[in-house]
Amino acid sequence: MDERLLKQMAVHSFGLMLIVMVTAIIISQNNKAMIYAGDTVVADAETNYEVAAPYSYGDVPEDNTEFLEKLGDKYIVIEKSNFTYDSIEILDLYMDRSFRISLQGLRGANIQDLSMVRVNQGQEFATYPILKIEEQETLDPSLLDTKDPLKGVSYINAEDDPLGTLTDVIIELDDVYVPVLYEDESNIYITLHKPKDIYDKVIVVDAGHGGTDPGTYSRDEQYYEKDINLSILLFLKELLDQEDMKVYYTRTTDKTVYLNPRVYLANDVEADFFVSIHCNSNESTQPSGAEVLYNNNLSDKSLIAEQFAQMCLDEVTNVTGKINRGLVTGEDVVIIEKAKMPIALIEVGFMSNQEELNFLLQETHKKEIANGIYKAILKAYELK
Ligand SMILES: [Zn+2]
Repeated sequence: MDERLLKQMAVHSFGLMLIVMVTAIIISQNNKAMIYAGDTVVADAETNYEVAAPYSYGDVPEDNTEFLEKLGDKYIVIEKSNFTYDSIEILDLYMDRSFRISLQGLRGANIQDLSMVRVNQGQEFATYPILKIEEQETLDPSLLDTKDPLKGVSYINAEDDPLGTLTDVIIELDDVYVPVLYEDESNIYITLHKPKDIYDKVIVVDAGHGGTDPGTYSRDEQYYEKDINLSILLFLKELLDQEDMKVYYTRTTDKTVYLNPRVYLANDVEADFFVSIHCNSNESTQPSGAEVLYNNNLSDKSLIAEQFAQMCLDEVTNVTGKINRGLVTGEDVVIIEKAKMPIALIEVGFMSNQEELNFLLQETHKKEIANGIYKAILKAYELK
């Protein structure tokens, strides 16, 4: 055979082999890429947790590369090898740095046998069973792997559920993350993205006091500060939830929340601004009007902090027509001292002043105050 022809044939068959190989790789990649966004629903009035707004997940990833990008470098994989279920929901319990996963109609495995692998920057953590949260508290923290984003797991078994079909896992994490859930044939994936990686604007809104801590109260002890604060927050929430920003609320019900978790939330989510709503009080019945406490210990953002506080004060006194008592630096206030972003602690008025109390108790005025704070937040973003 002609040597040239032989060479040509060799090149030809090598080319063919290459095509077959590439095709095989593409096919296997496509098989891996049968990933679709899971249904993720937000519940549920019965839990006492703060629950985030529903997340939407966009389109089905077209190829595996895109999916891996979405997954990022920190996520959880739950293998579906030995169980099935009808539906899955995930709730963001951000005040507890936790997610709650609900599996409706779980069949096959016991919920405590789910394999849950955590991946952080290429490193895998698969120790199982993981310690329960209560057990971890008795453990020397240095024994826990600090790169493992999972800090504890607890289970709510079907027998606790009246329908007997719902089984929940609460997974406690090392930080506040935005949970996004994906599924393919083999696994459930939960991504652990920081809020700032997903949202351009992130703020925290806090209703002072709550639960066993009433805050200040009216002279006749009929009205508590915690209720007025919450009511203003709920009006503000209606306005903010329509904006293109991620808002974390420290509470949306009358529940006890300690001071540190409030400010730690703001720091964890790297909030741009932190608003805390309060009412004032004095031994005398005379003082009235609004004032705003703020932080002046932020080296790089002190000016913005003062401007933000001033905006909140001006907008609130504009809508109430009450006395503007000015700004106060709040260095001995826990949440102000520890906040790493501009914070405005707004004392909207005095409950010790009967006339101002009557004013604050009216829904229309609480709405106006909420509207004032809302305007201040929008204006503050123009500063950034
Ligand atoms: Zn207060």
